Amino acid sequence: MEKFFFGSVALIVLKFGGTSVGGSEPIRRLGEIVRRCLPEKPIVVVSAMSGVTNRLFRLADLAMLGSSWEKELEGLVEQHRRCLGELALEPALLDPLFDELEKLIEGIGLIRECTPRTRDYLVSFGERFSVRLVAAHLRKAGIQALALDAFDAGLITNSHFGAARPLPDVDARIHGILSSVAGVPVITGYIGKDEAGNITTLGCGGSDYSASIFGAALDVKEIQIWTDVDGVMTADPRIVKGAKFIPKMSFAEASELAFYGAKVLHPATMIPAVRKNIPIRVLNSFRPDFEGTTIVAALTGPERHVKSIASKDRISVVNIIAPPMIFQYGFLERVARIFAKHEVVIDMIATSEVSLAMTVDPNAPLEKAKAELKEFAEVEVKTELSLLSVVGEELQDRTDFLEIVFGVTARLGVRIELISYGATRNNLAFVVKQEKVREVVMGLHASLFEGGLERPLVSR
Ligand code: ASP
Ligand code: MG
Repeated sequence: MEKFFFGSVALIVLKFGGTSVGGSEPIRRLGEIVRRCLPEKPIVVVSAMSGVTNRLFRLADLAMLGSSWEKELEGLVEQHRRCLGELALEPALLDPLFDELEKLIEGIGLIRECTPRTRDYLVSFGERFSVRLVAAHLRKAGIQALALDAFDAGLITNSHFGAARPLPDVDARIHGILSSVAGVPVITGYIGKDEAGNITTLGCGGSDYSASIFGAALDVKEIQIWTDVDGVMTADPRIVKGAKFIPKMSFAEASELAFYGAKVLHPATMIPAVRKNIPIRVLNSFRPDFEGTTIVAALTGPERHVKSIASKDRISVVNIIAPPMIFQYGFLERVARIFAKHEVVIDMIATSEVSLAMTVDPNAPLEKAKAELKEFAEVEVKTELSLLSVVGEELQDRTDFLEIVFGVTARLGVRIELISYGATRNNLAFVVKQEKVREVVMGLHASLFEGGLERPLVSR
């Protein structure tokens, strides 16, 4: 068995997403990647097997509605048992967790209620299964490894179920615990516990964020996000066939892209990495020798080139019209407080003398916020819109960007519903009708990445 004492210096975090732990073949590949990295004392963070988190959410819904959930649970158990079998691991390894999960679902079915707290507890099983599976495989492959639930590795969060955030002292807690682990810790992504001992989750796609939290706490030299694509691309390859791979980008660019809809990283991932200035690398576990995208603090010269086009569908624009807004201080605060109270996240804002327009996600709980806003303003909500964003440090270096971008929309005859630029000058975001978004993304991609625009930067 390849042994080492983990000691106080992990040098690298390896995070594997759902498809990279999605079956026996991917898990074998994961084993080889971990083995190669052993000299760098890795810690491994894993997601649930692909599809499992969604299945768990579905189980919660079925039980709550009083529908039968047994088949769905059977499918989920079977998915893990098959993987255990194919990897020739102990067949009963996960049985205690399967039992615990079944009891929980029975409980939900009985009372027909699933609070955010219970839902987090329920969906946490996905990652708790996969760490045990992965650690057992690593041990079988001769690598000393220990499965750990993130909360047993120091990840304590606030009690914001569904979108929990780490407490300020997690670095010390994590460091204290992990520095005495022998071998490779294999830690659950996505989940934590609050101080009262309730399991929490960091939100959809949150395992990337976990990886970065652990990496920052241990001051590693690199956080590697192993996924099923070559890295960050110039556009969503499902929309643009000719989307190109981006070798290097900045934290600021990656944050903007993640926030504005690129699926490759959870938007909060960059926060701990920026704090400790740790590079993040996005790699393809199905093509482990490919360089991947490196995300760093600062770019120079041509590296500042425009990077990518992201888009988010099904967003809404909320228009708040209040004629006396002019010269009225505190208006923005009043509006913002209502959105905050109802936990509606705002992506983008535009103002005029008499109105305030903002975009919100499709699932935002708008109704209650709307009712409160109506007490002092007229409120209009437009739906079926898409938010597009063009990201690159170069946007602040040249003067012709708006002309290029809006030249494309003008040629396509697409009307712009809302624009935002200037908050960080590396991102131009705007809203169009959803039915037009593919056309605009393809047109922009052609102009920005296929039309010889990759000329040297103009000087400032
Ligand atoms: N399993 C969780 C999800 O599907 C977390 C993650 O994969 O990052 O969202
Ligand atoms: Mg992910």
